[in-house]
Amino acid sequence: MATLGDNLKINGDRLWDSLMEMAKIGPGVAGGNNRQTLTDADAEGRALFQRWCEEAGLTLGVDKMGTMFARREGTDPDALPVYVGSHLDTQPTGGKYDGVLGVLGGLELVRTLNDLDIKTKHPIVVTNWTNEEGTRFAPAMLASGVFAGMHELEWAYDRTDAKGLKFGDELKRIGWVGDEEVGGRKMKAFFELHIEQGPILEAEGKDIGVVTHGQGLWWLQVTLTGKDAHTGSTPMPMRKNAGLGMARMTELVHEIAMSHQPEAVGAIGHVDVYPNSRNVIPGKVVFTIDFRSPHQSTLDSMKGRFEAEAPKIAEALGLEMEIEVSGHFDPVTFDEECVAAVRGAAERLGYSHRDIVSGAGHDACWINRLYPTAMVMCPCVDGLSHNEAEDISKEWAGAGADVLLHAVVETAEIVE
Ligand SMILES: [Zn+2]
Repeated sequence: MATLGDNLKINGDRLWDSLMEMAKIGPGVAGGNNRQTLTDADAEGRALFQRWCEEAGLTLGVDKMGTMFARREGTDPDALPVYVGSHLDTQPTGGKYDGVLGVLGGLELVRTLNDLDIKTKHPIVVTNWTNEEGTRFAPAMLASGVFAGMHELEWAYDRTDAKGLKFGDELKRIGWVGDEEVGGRKMKAFFELHIEQGPILEAEGKDIGVVTHGQGLWWLQVTLTGKDAHTGSTPMPMRKNAGLGMARMTELVHEIAMSHQPEAVGAIGHVDVYPNSRNVIPGKVVFTIDFRSPHQSTLDSMKGRFEAEAPKIAEALGLEMEIEVSGHFDPVTFDEECVAAVRGAAERLGYSHRDIVSGAGHDACWINRLYPTAMVMCPCVDGLSHNEAEDISKEWAGAGADVLLHAVVETAEIVE
Protein backbone atom coordinates (compact mmCIF):
# COMPACT_ATOMS: atom_id res chain seq x y z
CA MET A 1 0.00 0.00 0.00
CA ALA A 2 1.32 3.39 -0.94
CA THR A 3 1.71 5.99 1.78
CA LEU A 4 0.27 9.47 1.96
CA GLY A 5 2.56 12.46 1.64
CA ASP A 6 2.15 15.41 3.98
CA ASN A 7 1.76 17.57 0.87
CA LEU A 8 -1.53 15.91 -0.09
CA LYS A 9 -4.16 18.58 0.66
CA ILE A 10 -7.61 19.56 -0.43
CA ASN A 11 -8.33 22.81 -2.30
CA GLY A 12 -9.29 25.17 0.53
CA ASP A 13 -10.55 27.94 -1.76
CA ARG A 14 -12.82 25.59 -3.68
CA LEU A 15 -14.23 24.14 -0.43
CA TRP A 16 -14.91 27.65 0.86
CA ASP A 17 -16.57 28.73 -2.41
CA SER A 18 -18.86 25.69 -2.24
CA LEU A 19 -19.78 26.46 1.38
CA MET A 20 -20.66 30.05 0.38
CA GLU A 21 -22.63 28.86 -2.65
CA MET A 22 -24.68 26.42 -0.55
CA ALA A 23 -25.27 29.15 2.07
CA LYS A 24 -27.14 31.22 -0.55
CA ILE A 25 -29.90 28.61 -0.46
CA GLY A 26 -32.36 29.10 2.38
CA PRO A 27 -30.85 32.28 3.79
CA GLY A 28 -31.67 33.20 7.37
CA VAL A 29 -32.60 36.63 8.67
CA ALA A 30 -29.21 37.44 10.20
CA GLY A 31 -26.57 36.15 7.81
CA GLY A 32 -26.97 32.44 8.55
CA ASN A 33 -29.32 29.84 7.14
CA ASN A 34 -32.86 28.56 7.46
CA ARG A 35 -32.71 25.41 5.36
CA GLN A 36 -34.85 23.13 7.49
CA THR A 37 -35.36 19.57 6.44
CA LEU A 38 -37.86 18.74 3.67
CA THR A 39 -38.57 22.38 2.83
CA ASP A 40 -38.26 23.83 -0.67
CA ALA A 41 -34.88 25.21 0.36
CA ASP A 42 -33.76 21.72 1.39
CA ALA A 43 -34.81 20.44 -2.05
CA GLU A 44 -32.83 23.22 -3.70
CA GLY A 45 -29.76 22.45 -1.59
CA ARG A 46 -30.05 18.76 -2.45
CA ALA A 47 -30.28 19.57 -6.18
CA LEU A 48 -27.12 21.68 -6.00
CA PHE A 49 -25.28 18.92 -4.13
CA GLN A 50 -26.54 16.39 -6.69
CA ARG A 51 -25.23 18.52 -9.57
CA TRP A 52 -21.83 18.87 -7.90
CA CYS A 53 -21.68 15.12 -7.30
CA GLU A 54 -22.52 14.38 -10.94
CA GLU A 55 -19.87 16.86 -12.09
CA ALA A 56 -17.37 14.97 -9.91
CA GLY A 57 -18.34 11.70 -11.61
CA LEU A 58 -20.13 10.24 -8.60
CA THR A 59 -23.11 7.90 -8.80
CA LEU A 60 -26.04 8.92 -6.62
CA GLY A 61 -28.21 6.51 -4.64
CA VAL A 62 -31.12 7.65 -2.45
CA ASP A 63 -32.86 5.63 0.24
CA LYS A 64 -36.46 5.72 1.43
CA MET A 65 -35.57 8.33 4.07
CA GLY A 66 -34.19 10.60 1.35
CA THR A 67 -30.58 10.17 2.47
CA MET A 68 -28.20 10.80 -0.45
CA PHE A 69 -25.21 8.51 -1.09
CA ALA A 70 -22.76 9.69 -3.81
CA ARG A 71 -20.24 7.02 -4.74
CA ARG A 72 -16.76 7.20 -6.23
CA GLU A 73 -15.70 3.80 -7.45
CA GLY A 74 -12.69 1.97 -6.05
CA THR A 75 -10.43 -0.39 -7.97
CA ASP A 76 -11.84 -3.44 -6.20
CA PRO A 77 -15.56 -3.73 -7.00
CA ASP A 78 -16.12 -6.07 -4.06
CA ALA A 79 -14.40 -3.93 -1.42
CA LEU A 80 -16.66 -2.33 1.20
CA PRO A 81 -16.93 1.45 0.71
CA VAL A 82 -15.59 4.02 3.13
CA TYR A 83 -18.38 6.50 3.92
CA VAL A 84 -17.98 10.15 4.74
CA GLY A 85 -20.56 12.87 5.31
CA SER A 86 -22.92 14.76 7.58
CA HIS A 87 -26.08 16.81 6.90
CA LEU A 88 -27.20 19.75 4.74
CA ASP A 89 -30.30 20.64 6.78
CA THR A 90 -30.05 23.49 9.28
CA GLN A 91 -31.79 24.92 12.31
CA PRO A 92 -34.41 27.65 11.63
CA THR A 93 -31.79 30.17 12.75
CA GLY A 94 -28.79 28.03 11.89
CA GLY A 95 -25.27 28.66 10.71
CA LYS A 96 -23.57 28.02 7.39
CA TYR A 97 -21.26 25.27 8.62
CA ASP A 98 -23.04 22.94 11.07
CA GLY A 99 -23.35 19.73 9.04
CA VAL A 100 -22.68 21.41 5.70
CA LEU A 101 -18.93 21.35 6.27
CA GLY A 102 -18.99 17.57 6.69
CA VAL A 103 -20.92 16.98 3.44
CA LEU A 104 -19.02 19.49 1.31
CA GLY A 105 -15.70 18.50 2.96
CA GLY A 106 -16.44 14.97 1.74
CA LEU A 107 -17.21 16.25 -1.75
CA GLU A 108 -14.01 18.33 -1.75
CA LEU A 109 -12.02 15.25 -0.76
CA VAL A 110 -13.34 13.42 -3.82
CA ARG A 111 -12.72 16.41 -6.09
CA THR A 112 -9.12 16.46 -4.84
CA LEU A 113 -8.64 12.76 -5.55
CA ASN A 114 -10.06 13.36 -9.05
CA ASP A 115 -7.68 16.30 -9.65
CA LEU A 116 -4.68 14.24 -8.65
CA ASP A 117 -5.95 11.08 -10.33
CA ILE A 118 -5.58 9.15 -7.08
CA LYS A 119 -7.35 5.80 -6.97
CA THR A 120 -8.39 3.89 -3.90
CA LYS A 121 -9.08 0.21 -3.51
CA HIS A 122 -12.31 0.83 -1.61
CA PRO A 123 -15.07 3.04 -3.04
CA ILE A 124 -15.72 6.33 -1.22
CA VAL A 125 -19.32 7.42 -0.63
CA VAL A 126 -20.25 11.01 0.30
CA THR A 127 -23.44 11.08 2.36
CA ASN A 128 -26.10 13.69 3.14
CA TRP A 129 -28.22 12.32 6.02
CA THR A 130 -31.82 13.58 6.04
CA ASN A 131 -33.12 15.53 9.04
CA GLU A 132 -30.16 15.55 11.38
CA GLU A 133 -31.38 18.66 13.19
CA GLY A 134 -34.74 17.36 14.30
CA THR A 135 -36.23 20.85 14.79
CA ARG A 136 -38.98 20.49 12.22
CA PHE A 137 -39.53 16.76 12.79
CA ALA A 138 -38.28 15.38 16.14
CA PRO A 139 -36.16 13.51 16.96
CA ALA A 140 -32.75 14.64 15.74
CA MET A 141 -30.62 12.30 13.60
CA LEU A 142 -33.80 10.74 12.28
CA ALA A 143 -32.57 9.16 9.02
CA SER A 144 -29.30 7.84 10.45
CA GLY A 145 -31.38 6.53 13.36
CA VAL A 146 -33.61 4.55 10.99
CA PHE A 147 -30.47 3.40 9.15
CA ALA A 148 -29.02 2.13 12.45
CA GLY A 149 -32.26 0.34 13.37
CA MET A 150 -33.14 2.72 16.21
CA HIS A 151 -36.51 3.67 14.63
CA GLU A 152 -38.94 2.05 12.22
CA LEU A 153 -39.37 3.64 8.80
CA GLU A 154 -43.14 3.97 9.20
CA TRP A 155 -42.71 5.62 12.59
CA ALA A 156 -40.32 8.13 11.00
CA TYR A 157 -42.81 8.82 8.17
CA ASP A 158 -45.50 9.59 10.77
CA ARG A 159 -43.50 12.30 12.58
CA THR A 160 -45.34 15.62 12.27
CA ASP A 161 -44.15 19.22 12.22
CA ALA A 162 -45.78 22.15 14.03
CA LYS A 163 -48.33 22.51 11.19
CA GLY A 164 -49.29 18.85 11.42
CA LEU A 165 -47.54 17.92 8.15
CA LYS A 166 -46.06 14.42 8.09
CA PHE A 167 -42.41 13.66 7.40
CA GLY A 168 -43.35 11.00 4.82
CA ASP A 169 -45.67 13.37 2.93
CA GLU A 170 -43.17 16.20 2.92
CA LEU A 171 -40.38 13.90 1.71
CA LYS A 172 -42.63 12.89 -1.18
CA ARG A 173 -43.64 16.51 -1.86
CA ILE A 174 -40.03 17.65 -2.34
CA GLY A 175 -39.38 14.61 -4.56
CA TRP A 176 -36.69 12.84 -2.56
CA VAL A 177 -38.18 9.46 -1.64
CA GLY A 178 -35.52 7.06 -2.89
CA ASP A 179 -35.99 3.43 -3.81
CA GLU A 180 -33.31 1.93 -1.56
CA GLU A 181 -34.24 0.11 1.64
CA VAL A 182 -32.89 2.09 4.61
CA GLY A 183 -29.88 0.48 6.28
CA GLY A 184 -29.11 -1.88 3.42
CA ARG A 185 -25.66 -0.46 2.82
CA LYS A 186 -22.55 -2.02 4.34
CA MET A 187 -19.64 0.20 5.30
CA LYS A 188 -15.96 -0.41 5.90
CA ALA A 189 -15.95 2.75 8.01
CA PHE A 190 -17.69 6.11 8.43
CA PHE A 191 -15.99 9.47 9.00
CA GLU A 192 -17.77 12.74 9.84
CA LEU A 193 -16.15 16.17 9.81
CA HIS A 194 -18.06 18.69 11.94
CA ILE A 195 -17.52 22.05 13.61
CA GLU A 196 -16.92 21.68 17.34
CA GLN A 197 -20.01 23.67 18.44
CA GLY A 198 -18.09 24.38 21.64
CA PRO A 199 -15.25 26.69 22.71
CA ILE A 200 -12.40 24.31 23.58
CA LEU A 201 -10.37 24.09 20.33
CA GLU A 202 -10.40 27.84 19.71
CA ALA A 203 -9.53 28.62 23.33
CA GLU A 204 -6.56 26.24 23.24
CA GLY A 205 -5.47 27.30 19.76
CA LYS A 206 -5.84 23.79 18.32
CA ASP A 207 -6.59 23.15 14.64
CA ILE A 208 -8.16 19.74 15.03
CA GLY A 209 -10.28 17.86 17.55
CA VAL A 210 -9.81 14.10 17.43
CA VAL A 211 -13.19 12.91 18.67
CA THR A 212 -12.81 9.86 20.90
CA HIS A 213 -16.26 9.78 22.53
CA GLY A 214 -19.74 11.14 22.24
CA GLN A 215 -21.56 12.05 25.42
CA GLY A 216 -24.41 9.94 26.62
CA LEU A 217 -27.33 11.65 28.29
CA TRP A 218 -30.20 11.26 30.69
CA TRP A 219 -33.15 13.61 30.46
CA LEU A 220 -35.33 13.51 33.56
CA GLN A 221 -38.64 15.31 33.74
CA VAL A 222 -39.55 16.28 37.28
CA THR A 223 -42.97 17.40 38.49
CA LEU A 224 -43.15 19.04 41.90
CA THR A 225 -46.58 19.62 43.35
CA GLY A 226 -47.23 21.92 46.32
CA LYS A 227 -50.06 24.34 46.81
CA ASP A 228 -50.99 27.58 45.03
CA ALA A 229 -51.45 30.23 47.71
CA HIS A 230 -51.40 34.00 48.15
CA THR A 231 -47.85 35.35 48.35
CA GLY A 232 -48.93 38.07 50.77
CA SER A 233 -51.21 36.39 53.23
CA THR A 234 -49.81 32.85 53.55
CA PRO A 235 -47.48 32.54 56.57
CA MET A 236 -44.03 31.24 55.63
CA PRO A 237 -44.26 28.01 57.70
CA MET A 238 -47.56 27.11 55.98
CA ARG A 239 -46.29 27.26 52.39
CA LYS A 240 -45.80 24.37 49.98
CA ASN A 241 -43.61 26.21 47.48
CA ALA A 242 -42.83 24.07 44.42
CA GLY A 243 -40.66 26.92 43.06
CA LEU A 244 -38.41 26.69 46.10
CA GLY A 245 -38.09 22.94 45.57
CA MET A 246 -37.11 23.54 41.96
CA ALA A 247 -34.50 26.11 43.04
CA ARG A 248 -32.92 23.69 45.53
CA MET A 249 -32.89 20.94 42.91
CA THR A 250 -31.22 23.29 40.44
CA GLU A 251 -28.40 23.67 42.98
CA LEU A 252 -28.30 19.90 43.48
CA VAL A 253 -28.00 19.21 39.72
CA HIS A 254 -25.17 21.73 39.43
CA GLU A 255 -23.37 20.30 42.43
CA ILE A 256 -23.71 16.70 41.15
CA ALA A 257 -22.19 17.68 37.77
CA MET A 258 -19.43 19.68 39.48
CA SER A 259 -18.47 16.65 41.55
CA HIS A 260 -17.60 14.75 38.34
CA GLN A 261 -15.40 17.34 36.59
CA PRO A 262 -14.18 17.59 33.92
CA GLU A 263 -16.17 14.84 32.27
CA ALA A 264 -19.74 15.56 33.15
CA VAL A 265 -22.27 18.34 32.71
CA GLY A 266 -25.72 18.91 34.11
CA ALA A 267 -28.35 21.61 34.01
CA ILE A 268 -32.05 22.32 34.29
CA GLY A 269 -32.86 23.86 30.91
CA HIS A 270 -36.63 23.86 30.69
CA VAL A 271 -38.99 25.04 33.41
CA ASP A 272 -42.75 25.52 33.54
CA VAL A 273 -44.02 27.26 36.65
CA TYR A 274 -47.73 27.15 37.55
CA PRO A 275 -49.67 29.33 37.73
CA ASN A 276 -46.73 31.68 36.98
CA SER A 277 -48.37 34.69 38.54
CA ARG A 278 -46.66 37.51 40.41
CA ASN A 279 -48.67 37.07 43.59
CA VAL A 280 -49.17 33.31 43.73
CA ILE A 281 -46.78 30.88 45.41
CA PRO A 282 -46.02 28.30 42.68
CA GLY A 283 -48.17 25.24 43.35
CA LYS A 284 -46.60 23.21 40.61
CA VAL A 285 -43.33 23.22 38.69
CA VAL A 286 -42.39 20.92 35.83
CA PHE A 287 -38.75 20.96 34.73
CA THR A 288 -36.25 18.85 32.82
CA ILE A 289 -32.77 17.86 33.87
CA ASP A 290 -30.08 17.20 31.26
CA PHE A 291 -27.13 15.13 32.56
CA ARG A 292 -24.34 14.21 30.10
CA SER A 293 -21.06 12.34 30.25
CA PRO A 294 -18.94 10.23 27.90
CA HIS A 295 -18.75 7.57 30.63
CA GLN A 296 -21.66 5.28 31.34
CA SER A 297 -20.78 4.87 35.03
CA THR A 298 -20.60 8.64 35.60
CA LEU A 299 -23.82 9.17 33.72
CA ASP A 300 -25.68 6.56 35.74
CA SER A 301 -24.26 7.68 39.06
CA MET A 302 -25.35 11.28 38.42
CA LYS A 303 -28.88 10.11 37.73
CA GLY A 304 -28.78 7.80 40.75
CA ARG A 305 -27.65 10.55 43.10
CA PHE A 306 -30.36 12.92 41.92
CA GLU A 307 -33.00 10.23 42.35
CA ALA A 308 -31.75 9.54 45.88
CA GLU A 309 -31.37 13.11 47.14
CA ALA A 310 -34.08 15.09 45.36
CA PRO A 311 -36.98 13.31 47.14
CA LYS A 312 -35.50 14.44 50.48
CA ILE A 313 -35.64 18.06 49.31
CA ALA A 314 -39.25 17.57 48.22
CA GLU A 315 -40.21 15.93 51.48
CA ALA A 316 -38.66 18.66 53.61
CA LEU A 317 -40.77 21.24 51.76
CA GLY A 318 -43.98 19.20 51.84
CA LEU A 319 -43.98 18.67 48.07
CA GLU A 320 -45.00 15.67 46.00
CA MET A 321 -42.47 14.63 43.43
CA GLU A 322 -42.56 12.58 40.25
CA ILE A 323 -39.51 11.74 38.12
CA GLU A 324 -39.91 10.49 34.58
CA VAL A 325 -37.16 9.58 32.09
CA SER A 326 -37.85 11.68 28.99
CA GLY A 327 -34.73 10.87 27.01
CA HIS A 328 -31.65 8.69 27.04
CA PHE A 329 -28.60 7.95 24.90
CA ASP A 330 -25.73 5.69 25.86
CA PRO A 331 -22.29 7.27 25.61
CA VAL A 332 -20.46 6.57 22.34
CA THR A 333 -16.93 5.24 22.12
CA PHE A 334 -15.64 5.73 18.60
CA ASP A 335 -13.62 3.03 16.84
CA GLU A 336 -10.00 2.87 17.98
CA GLU A 337 -8.56 2.35 14.51
CA CYS A 338 -10.62 5.10 12.87
CA VAL A 339 -9.75 7.49 15.71
CA ALA A 340 -6.07 6.58 15.24
CA ALA A 341 -6.41 7.33 11.52
CA VAL A 342 -7.73 10.82 12.34
CA ARG A 343 -5.02 11.48 14.93
CA GLY A 344 -2.31 10.14 12.59
CA ALA A 345 -3.59 12.36 9.78
CA ALA A 346 -3.44 15.50 11.95
CA GLU A 347 0.05 14.50 13.06
CA ARG A 348 1.31 13.83 9.50
CA LEU A 349 -0.08 17.15 8.27
CA GLY A 350 1.47 19.07 11.14
CA TYR A 351 -1.83 20.36 12.54
CA SER A 352 -2.07 20.94 16.27
CA HIS A 353 -4.67 18.64 17.77
CA ARG A 354 -6.20 17.28 20.95
CA ASP A 355 -8.58 14.50 21.83
CA ILE A 356 -12.07 15.78 22.43
CA VAL A 357 -15.53 14.56 23.41
CA SER A 358 -18.51 15.50 21.30
CA GLY A 359 -21.03 17.29 23.48
CA ALA A 360 -23.76 17.18 20.84
CA GLY A 361 -25.36 14.25 19.05
CA HIS A 362 -24.31 13.50 15.46
CA ASP A 363 -25.21 11.02 12.72
CA ALA A 364 -21.81 9.41 13.40
CA CYS A 365 -23.07 8.40 16.87
CA TRP A 366 -25.77 6.19 15.34
CA ILE A 367 -23.55 4.79 12.56
CA ASN A 368 -20.93 3.89 15.18
CA ARG A 369 -23.38 1.28 16.46
CA LEU A 370 -23.03 -0.59 13.14
CA TYR A 371 -19.62 0.18 11.64
CA PRO A 372 -16.21 1.53 12.68
CA THR A 373 -16.68 5.29 12.93
CA ALA A 374 -14.77 8.42 13.90
CA MET A 375 -15.21 12.19 13.78
CA VAL A 376 -12.93 15.12 12.98
CA MET A 377 -13.71 18.50 14.54
CA CYS A 378 -12.54 21.96 13.66
CA PRO A 379 -12.90 25.06 15.87
CA CYS A 380 -15.74 27.57 15.58
CA VAL A 381 -15.63 31.18 16.76
CA ASP A 382 -16.64 31.58 20.44
CA GLY A 383 -18.01 28.04 20.36
CA LEU A 384 -21.17 29.47 18.85
CA SER A 385 -23.51 27.15 16.90
CA HIS A 386 -27.24 26.76 16.27
CA ASN A 387 -27.02 30.50 15.74
CA GLU A 388 -26.90 32.49 12.53
CA ALA A 389 -23.68 34.11 13.72
CA GLU A 390 -21.92 30.72 13.72
CA ASP A 391 -18.50 31.30 12.15
CA ILE A 392 -15.30 29.47 11.17
CA SER A 393 -12.24 30.49 9.16
CA LYS A 394 -11.30 29.20 5.73
CA GLU A 395 -8.10 27.83 7.27
CA TRP A 396 -9.98 25.87 9.94
CA ALA A 397 -12.31 24.39 7.34
CA GLY A 398 -9.35 23.48 5.13
CA ALA A 399 -7.39 21.84 7.94
CA GLY A 400 -10.41 19.78 8.96
CA ALA A 401 -11.00 18.64 5.38
CA ASP A 402 -7.28 17.83 4.97
CA VAL A 403 -7.43 15.55 8.00
CA LEU A 404 -10.65 14.01 6.70
CA LEU A 405 -8.97 13.40 3.33
CA HIS A 406 -6.01 11.62 4.89
CA ALA A 407 -8.04 9.51 7.31
CA VAL A 408 -10.47 8.46 4.56
CA VAL A 409 -7.84 7.75 1.92
CA GLU A 410 -5.73 5.76 4.37
CA THR A 411 -8.80 3.68 5.25
CA ALA A 412 -9.86 3.31 1.59
CA GLU A 413 -6.27 2.27 0.71
CA ILE A 414 -4.52 4.31 -1.96
CA VAL A 415 -3.57 2.43 -5.14
CA GLU A 416 -0.49 3.35 -7.19
ZN1 LIG B 1 -24.69 19.11 12.89
